[in-house]
Amino acid sequence: MISAPLSHDEIRSAPKVVLHEHLDGGLRPQTLIDIAGEIGRPLPADEPQALADWFFDAANSGSLERYLETFAHTVAAMQTPEHCARIASEAVQDLAADGVVYAELRYAPEQQLTRGMSLDEVVESTVAGLAEGERLAAEAGHTIQTGTILCGMRQANRVKEIAELAVAHRDKGVVGFDIAGPERGFLPQKHLAAFEYLRRECMPFTIHAGESDGLDSILGAVADCGAQRIGHGVRITDDIDRSGFGAQLGRLATYIRDRRIALEVCPSSNLQTGAADSIATHPVNDLYRLGFRVTVNNDNRLMSRTHTSREFHLLSEAFDWSWSEIANCTVNAAEAAFLPYPERRVLIDEVIRPAYAALERSA
Ligand SMILES: [Zn+2]
Repeated sequence: MISAPLSHDEIRSAPKVVLHEHLDGGLRPQTLIDIAGEIGRPLPADEPQALADWFFDAANSGSLERYLETFAHTVAAMQTPEHCARIASEAVQDLAADGVVYAELRYAPEQQLTRGMSLDEVVESTVAGLAEGERLAAEAGHTIQTGTILCGMRQANRVKEIAELAVAHRDKGVVGFDIAGPERGFLPQKHLAAFEYLRRECMPFTIHAGESDGLDSILGAVADCGAQRIGHGVRITDDIDRSGFGAQLGRLATYIRDRRIALEVCPSSNLQTGAADSIATHPVNDLYRLGFRVTVNNDNRLMSRTHTSREFHLLSEAFDWSWSEIANCTVNAAEAAFLPYPERRVLIDEVIRPAYAALERSA
């Protein structure tokens, strides 16, 4: 029986966990207009709705490279401590208002140095902004906890330095590391030295892989570099043979499923970068049904004009997902979070499970 899809509002009321969220992809349009005015930078539109539409349309080109171009505007607004803090605080408040109870927000400090900030200042002002966002969200009645993931840019040569920055700021708001930027042509193993360093420092990391590039990129991230999670990872579907009866998983797909390596899936973002053609044909449901540790994320709320409850609503519409699937993906995300184990247990046992049990009872 097909039931009515869960609405945004229903899903907003449930606790959610976000692992893959770019700070430079989640600015409020009005904030971008305010900051662009302060720094004298022209924008493609001067009115919030028109600017939001421009970002969505520009990101809809179907190419990851073109999609990344939209970030020139947002990154330009993140070049002072005050602006970093404001953007971080607002992102936390917006996620909290959407029912997110734990979020890891990522950004690339090396891109935020054009107005004289040091790498340390970028991290410190961002972490301060997150704390302020948590405080303001609590005042508005929403409890949210956050951590940051530092991204090195895979096409540049500062990945090891940013990995060292992440280690220097661990226990001070930084919970993990990642590499971002164009995937094709920049396999993760190009930065093996940085990942070997992080492993020796016992610092957790995720790697963008299997978004615009295929299995080689995922294999490199997992086998060569030792990633504990995969950003996107949807191309793992190429290692699943459906030509016969049922699904035959290849060695890499089997390893990722069995080792419980979380896939940070971002459905709407994948439609814009060409990693998937539609929600209805997106592999997220298939991967979930096959037992992968699937998590559902926004990637870039501004470019994809989305938020977490909308992503789950789309999956509820397309695949008849109900509370049990949303609960399982939320628990998956909490289990894979770069948060100390006792804190993950509290999140799962005292926040997530009781809330979904109540929602399922009332459904
Ligand atoms: Zn991403």
